[in-house]
Amino acid sequence: MGKIYIIDVTNRDGVQTAKLGLSKLEKTMINIYLNEMGVFQSEFGFPTTHHESLYLQANLELAQMGVLKPIRLGGWIRAIPQDVDTTFKLVPGIKHLNLSISTSDQMIYGKFLGKKSREDIIADMVEAVRVAKQYGAETIGVNAEDGSRTDLGYLIKFGLAARENGAHRMRYCDTLGYDNPFTIYSTAKALAENVGLPVELHCHGDLGMAVANSIAGAKGAIDGGQDAYINTTVNGIGERAGNADLVAVLLAATKSKGFCQEYQLANRIDLSKAWKLARFASYAFKVPIPINQPGVGANAFAHASGIHADGVLKDSCNYELYDFTELGRGEAETVETGREICTGEYGGISGFRHVIGRIMGDMAIAFRDSKEAEEVLELVRYANVEAQKPLVEDELAFIYKYPSIARKILTLKPLEY
Ligand SMILES: [Zn+2]
Repeated sequence: MGKIYIIDVTNRDGVQTAKLGLSKLEKTMINIYLNEMGVFQSEFGFPTTHHESLYLQANLELAQMGVLKPIRLGGWIRAIPQDVDTTFKLVPGIKHLNLSISTSDQMIYGKFLGKKSREDIIADMVEAVRVAKQYGAETIGVNAEDGSRTDLGYLIKFGLAARENGAHRMRYCDTLGYDNPFTIYSTAKALAENVGLPVELHCHGDLGMAVANSIAGAKGAIDGGQDAYINTTVNGIGERAGNADLVAVLLAATKSKGFCQEYQLANRIDLSKAWKLARFASYAFKVPIPINQPGVGANAFAHASGIHADGVLKDSCNYELYDFTELGRGEAETVETGREICTGEYGGISGFRHVIGRIMGDMAIAFRDSKEAEEVLELVRYANVEAQKPLVEDELAFIYKYPSIARKILTLKPLEY
């Protein structure tokens, strides 16, 4: 019986969203929180994009150091050989890749303007897979972009060619959120049965069905005899109406009627990290969490109407499907209303020592010498310049603990190539 794996794509689909973005340190923190939560893989960025190189390399170093472990870090590139070459030139240590190419006739005629045929698309993808294998990529997923508007027979042909040439998974992209749970179930099942590769479900919310489609697609893949991989983003942030929300997918997979009795997550997920992760992503993206967001919205456990309040006071199960503590909620938060010492891009050493001492729980925190303290403060200043908002405690602690990695992540000068 196949299992369900989560591949979070916040650091790829989330950050390519119009009007939104994350600093490289914020992307790193997202990887760290996803790892703490037990998510299988983070699609951590774009290996052919030059300003990502040092961030990607630094995060791979964190993986080697055991800081980002056991999470897998996967890059997203176009399924063309040139992108694979550039990837291994800029980020030689990368091990996991998803290679993406549009497969629908709409894109063949509307985007490639007839310059690429269906055969050319398969040929490009196959060549990209071959080159990635030559470079030593450990896992390769191939993405059928606009898969939901692609003829199923051709999609199977595409998947079979990927499999024959050594790809490990096929990503079925409902790029425009066009599927519904019934159509994606049958497509995912047909792909699993006829291609013989695990199926990734990449769903968007243009019709409000991203989470439902992800669950139905996963069921289809597993019923077809394969593992399912669901793509999510934190708070559902993604192109246009967004992607399948990570927390909602986890709740749906584990709490919805009868589902988890038959279909199980492959990894042990620590849902109690959900609150912290959702709040951090909201702060970093500068996008508030909707009040009615599943699990992490301000109203997710609020009751006002007489019948509901009375019922929940007698037994929370009367009007709550799961408990707030499962999501890591319920701890009191203190807001400083008196004197506050902050650190930032124009901060000095005395304030910085105070702040880092408070965070690390040791006011007499020891730096080797004042030069070391100055060096860490300088990194904090640069991190603040990049984020343009106060760093959260975990970010400051990260810089304090891993200054040389932070230096790499924060280096944004155009590379020479
Ligand atoms: Zn997408």
